Amino acid sequence: MTLDLKSAIRTIPDYPKPGIMFRDITTLLGNARAFRRAIDELVQPWAGTKIDKVAGMEARGFILGGAVAHQLSAGFVPIRKKGKLPHTTVSIAYSLEYGLDEMEMHDDAVEAGERVILVDDLIATGGTATGAVGLLKKIGADVVAACFVIDLPELGGAKKIEALGVPVRTLISFE
Ligand code: 5GP
Repeated sequence: MTLDLKSAIRTIPDYPKPGIMFRDITTLLGNARAFRRAIDELVQPWAGTKIDKVAGMEARGFILGGAVAHQLSAGFVPIRKKGKLPHTTVSIAYSLEYGLDEMEMHDDAVEAGERVILVDDLIATGGTATGAVGLLKKIGADVVAACFVIDLPELGGAKKIEALGVPVRTLISFE
């Protein structure tokens, strides 16, 4: 029987606030077959190509991005909320549902021209990924693609990232 990634994701209604259907990937991560399948599918387009670094967004992007980087024999670069990284950083403001926040990466984490893929668990409005793409471009990375397990297409995030010239790959979507 083929494994359905979608059924490995748990939906929590009204979290973190009323009206939100939160897609909880901890059930996917805890299911060995589903976790392996998700990583294999994220990696598949890049097998045999040269990817220098995988950048993952705090915090679920660390789990998926770390596994993807290992599979591709690439380095891993954490993109974190402001104030969490110990060395000198570059930072960028990005939009949240309400207001702005800042994300950072170490200024020596990627060399100019290195081929980087961005990984996170889910793309919704695309605000977080837009910030991460901006940050990577700021230090001269060649952002080859942005990859997510889950797309929420109604919120238009994937289209926003494609409009920045970065191809988007998602594995499943929830309407
Ligand atoms: P965006 O910036 O595209 O609106 O939101 C995406 C970011 O918020 C991602 O970093 C993602 O981890 C988080 N996020 C928003 N909604 C959900 C959700 O329903 N489930 C999960 N797992 N993450 C979410």
